[in-house]
Amino acid sequence: MDCIFCRIIAGEAPGEIVYADELATAFRDIHPVGPTHILIVPNQHIASVEDLQAEDEPLVGHLFTVARQLAREQGIHEGGYRLIVNTGRNAGQAVFHLHLHLIGGQRMRFPMG
Ligand code: AMP
Ligand code: ZN
Repeated sequence: MDCIFCRIIAGEAPGEIVYADELATAFRDIHPVGPTHILIVPNQHIASVEDLQAEDEPLVGHLFTVARQLAREQGIHEGGYRLIVNTGRNAGQAVFHLHLHLIGGQRMRFPMG
């Protein structure tokens, strides 16, 4: 399986990694839609929300607390930010490795940044 996000997590593909721990990695989106646009991903390959299991609940919660920490580090927590998880074709999911978009630093427009 050739997954670009697995390759970034493994250090085999370039990525501007801003956070990593044993469960999750965060890196800057290559096509940012706002001044801050970071993707937070589980280190384990999970294709989408549709592939989550009940035992993944702590992992999914962890993605959100990492997002909150990064929002503080990036200084966008007071102004507010948007967290997005595209799931499947109709949502326009392009990379099938679960990821949480953290977007902020400007007043949001529809649909993303
Ligand atoms: P989506 O699957 O639609 O939620 O979004 C996938 C996101 O991944 C898009 O915002 C892309 O710009 C971003 N992306 C795709 N390839 C890379 C990469 N190699 N490094 C960083 N971001 C990427
Ligand atoms: Zn993957």
